[in-house]
Amino acid sequence: MGTSLIAGAAGFIGSHLSERLLADGERVIGVDNFVTGDRRNIAHLAANPAWRFVEADVTRPIVEDLGRVDAIYHLASPASPVVYLAKPFETLYAGSDATRLLLERAERDGARFLVASTSEVYGDPLVHPQPESYWGHVNPVGPRSVYDEAKRFGETLTMAFHRYKGVQTHIARIFNTYGPRMSLNDGRIIPAFCGAVLRGEPIPVFGDGLQTRSYCYVDDLVDGLVRLQRSDLREPCNLGNPHELTVLALASIVRKLAGSEVAIVHHPLPEDDPRQRRPVIDRARAELGWELKVSFEEGLPRTFAWFRTHRT
Ligand code: NAD
Repeated sequence: MGTSLIAGAAGFIGSHLSERLLADGERVIGVDNFVTGDRRNIAHLAANPAWRFVEADVTRPIVEDLGRVDAIYHLASPASPVVYLAKPFETLYAGSDATRLLLERAERDGARFLVASTSEVYGDPLVHPQPESYWGHVNPVGPRSVYDEAKRFGETLTMAFHRYKGVQTHIARIFNTYGPRMSLNDGRIIPAFCGAVLRGEPIPVFGDGLQTRSYCYVDDLVDGLVRLQRSDLREPCNLGNPHELTVLALASIVRKLAGSEVAIVHHPLPEDDPRQRRPVIDRARAELGWELKVSFEEGLPRTFAWFRTHRT
């Protein structure tokens, strides 16, 4: 099956992707500098002879000899608003320098390349739901631009390596994904809500809570990434769950799940916070045969149980 390099392997999605590719019989080289990742996410892989881990910053050339790889997944980037606002340059260079270096490696090795882009490329969308053909509504100098524009540039660079250098590239536009191994403290909504009820603290809701989000379980997302990498689809591809839920509805589901009666506290809405997010996933369905398998009713209790046993 060949060798895959995963940049950002110690992160939430990267660790699940590593498990999936190893289960498929691939050799996997995980690379991470732990800027947001966690050693515990990959500790259980150490005994697997098909797994190799290299601690390195992918915004710089990797000094270790990794040999020739067949596929590269570029997931390395701070991913949550709390973290990317605190680490603006790490985020910008993950989208620019790291994408360039990993694309150059893909070109040298003749490897397939996939970049983890994001629904944030649509900004605060004026079109709802969002198909891949929508160009987005992004403030290029707002606080969130360090992430949004880094990801947009990453997409542009990826397309240029395909158009001008013939690299087999793929662009995954990932919408909110959740599951075990998310960091409890990075401000993302599901861990933030689960963490609050587990600590018996009020659930923090930004604004009126009527803004909507959609949540994809990590196993489904990883399946989409693998299918995309193995496909011939060069255009960006949305991967996410189109089932929309208000933030307030999520808060009450989490409360019910925990049998908790903690209060909900409202905080001011952050600047440029999108009101609505919902992917159109027709392309992934038609071109990749991708279907969502894990419902929210199944995935959320699994995730909550994991937080309860592993992070409290
Ligand atoms: P994460 O923070 O858990 O994982 C990112 C990993 O990349 C971490 O382990 C981090 O240490 C590593 N990393 C960052 N910069 C690095 C560098 N310069 N060198 C080496 N390693 C580096 O985040 P995640 O949720 O797993 O996200 C993975 C990717 O998917 C990111 O690119 C993110 O932007 C994208 N994405 C995620 C979501 C989501 O809902 N989780 C949504 C859209 C896009």
